[in-house]
Amino acid sequence: MSISKDDKVMLTVDDIPTKWYNIAADLPEPVPSPLNPRTNQPVEPQELEAIFPKAAIAQELSVERYIDIPEEVRDAYLMLGRPTPLQRAKRLEKFLNTPAKIYFKREDLSPAGSHKVNSAIPQAYFNMKEGVENITTETGAGQWGTALALACAHFDLTCKVFMVRVSYDQKPLRRLIMETYGSKVYASPSKETAFGRQFLEKNPDSSGSLGIAISEAIETCVNQPNTKYSLGSVANHVMLHQTVIGQEVMQQLEQIDVVPDYMIACVGGGSNFAGFCFPMMGKKIQGKVDTEFIAAEPRSVPSLTGGEYRYDFGDTAGMTPLFKMYTMGHDFMPSPIHAGGLRYHGMAPTVSLATKLKYVTPMAYDQMDTFASAITFAKTEGIIPAPESSHAIKAAIDKALEAKKANEEKVIVFNLSGHGLLDMAGYGRYLNGELGERNGA
Ligand SMILES: *Cc1c(COP(=O)(O)O)cnc(C)c1O
Repeated sequence: MSISKDDKVMLTVDDIPTKWYNIAADLPEPVPSPLNPRTNQPVEPQELEAIFPKAAIAQELSVERYIDIPEEVRDAYLMLGRPTPLQRAKRLEKFLNTPAKIYFKREDLSPAGSHKVNSAIPQAYFNMKEGVENITTETGAGQWGTALALACAHFDLTCKVFMVRVSYDQKPLRRLIMETYGSKVYASPSKETAFGRQFLEKNPDSSGSLGIAISEAIETCVNQPNTKYSLGSVANHVMLHQTVIGQEVMQQLEQIDVVPDYMIACVGGGSNFAGFCFPMMGKKIQGKVDTEFIAAEPRSVPSLTGGEYRYDFGDTAGMTPLFKMYTMGHDFMPSPIHAGGLRYHGMAPTVSLATKLKYVTPMAYDQMDTFASAITFAKTEGIIPAPESSHAIKAAIDKALEAKKANEEKVIVFNLSGHGLLDMAGYGRYLNGELGERNGA
């Protein structure tokens, strides 16, 4: 195999996007507004000011196609590894003996280990600009907490992180990383909040969930002076921030003159999928490309393939507004699978609407199959993927094998949303044969 220009497509400093892309401008239907659960009326921007900075609220409700990225944020993006390479998985292709070409976007190269820093940085920045001093948040696998802890250190804010109990126990190193960046970390459900105490009373052995941790983070935000809450996925403004990924991918594909047949990302709350796919989906809506967008979710939390499209709370306690989304129900207790970042009962309203409108093909995969795919990828490409990202790898491998059967030279591009170097306990359990589909803890 000789080196060719599409083996690794690099961008320069100047190619870091200057704007975020907002799919609300191009979707043929308006994204349904969040509702106030007491009145069932659309939430007023002022109602969100108790938990979000004004800039994030404006972005949340915006229908402008492009929104400027502040220079300080682009600066931080640069420092934290943007632009990221687009790489060809030649050894995986060879191993599968497929005529398909497989490319992947290297969001695993961020110092926080995942794409999440793309939104943590602007969120911390907007809070800092508006004079906020403290931030609260939740984290599932620990990836979002890590990214926000890094961002809060960068802009000199304090940060409290409610970490889902099962991850807190499975991933002690994640907690230490957040603490190294100066954040305070609590296992959720915790005794720090009224909701946590109440929940623990009834369920003392609870492994926790993102929904519970969100409730605790919001309660703390509301009760603590000069504090805002920060969300790592689901919200429109988070999807927006992540579009730096997809805009870079489009420049990279243009450089090598390639139009993808498939773009694939895993989905928890939807942010890496949205960030990776939405810029190209805008082109598809305009009829300029015919790419298929595949959202890979876990079989044990199948919001897109097994949930209902309706209004539901974003958290377990019912403290958030109601969001129109594919949901398993806000009191759904996901099984403790190792892809902790995918254990969320709902799905971003933008990703949900795009799915309802058939711009997204959702697929659900078993934990055992995604670990097997992760190990194939590690052996061929040398990178140990996050268990979440392994869902996208599984989908990419399936598509590559389909292409082999049909003898078609398809182009498959997937998002490697994070690395799995802090998930080795999960890999260990898989390798030792201790893992089942539902038994992850
Ligand atoms: C959090 C996380 C996810 C899932 O969240 P999305 O908002 O759906 O992107 C996927 N991959 C990694 C590596 C994560 O950290």
